[in-house]
Amino acid sequence: MPELPELETMREVLTSSVLGCAIVSARAYRPGVLKTVDPPLDALVGESFRSVDRRGKHLLLSCRADLWLVVHLMVAGRLVLTRTATKVTKATGLVVSLADGRDLRLVENGSKKMAQVHVVRGPGDVEGIARAGVEPLSDDFTCEAAARLLGADRRQLKKLLTDPSRLAGIGAAYADEILFAAGLSPIRYGNTLEAAEIERLHAAIRDVLAEAVARTRRAAGGALVGERRAEGMRVYKRTGEPCAVCGAPIAEIRFAETRTYYCPQCQSKGRTIADRRVWLRR
Ligand SMILES: [Zn+2]
Repeated sequence: MPELPELETMREVLTSSVLGCAIVSARAYRPGVLKTVDPPLDALVGESFRSVDRRGKHLLLSCRADLWLVVHLMVAGRLVLTRTATKVTKATGLVVSLADGRDLRLVENGSKKMAQVHVVRGPGDVEGIARAGVEPLSDDFTCEAAARLLGADRRQLKKLLTDPSRLAGIGAAYADEILFAAGLSPIRYGNTLEAAEIERLHAAIRDVLAEAVARTRRAAGGALVGERRAEGMRVYKRTGEPCAVCGAPIAEIRFAETRTYYCPQCQSKGRTIADRRVWLRR
């Protein structure tokens, strides 16, 4: 699933590639991809994209102050820019054709199609945006804000960091990277953190995400790619590989469908965390 760094890079690429292009048609190919009925998708025709923003994991393309196309890629959705002549496939969920002979397409492989599109009069009409938490790279996310948001919460840190109504745009992968950088166990409870630990966590959130944005931008090279670049990750999907800091093997916790990656030495006082200890308490 693309997270803040990948989406921020997509926002930049879209800004430099689709702004000002007139829209000649807009069509949903998969029933259910479009979550709204009013304004209709057709309202985009004759307009052009004026700005591209990001809020959490949503991409917001505005045509007018009261007409927005909002995309959430969920797990497997991708945005691609292609020639209009390119064949539409089963994976194509939505196509916006531009006057210059290109399409902006939402594609999604696999059997579970979850990506969502909203056409709305304002971003706040999308529930996930109305409820979105603080942007972790914004000036609003100070150390004091982190203490307020995280330090009083009785949930485990992994759960807390990936709650979009607390911090916008962080998913499972960067939550693991952040907790590794902060040297904190994913099963610690927010309300047990001491002031110095909150400070470390706050710095790790900002540093890990800012570095990932820079790395993703470099890797994309101006192209619209959404995949996470594994080479930059220090614990995510690195089970059994030596920790870059201490050399101990990276471990994983499995619970239900989720995996959490961590270094037992750096984050858990040398102890491995039993799978069943995770997410059992809320
Ligand atoms: Zn380590």
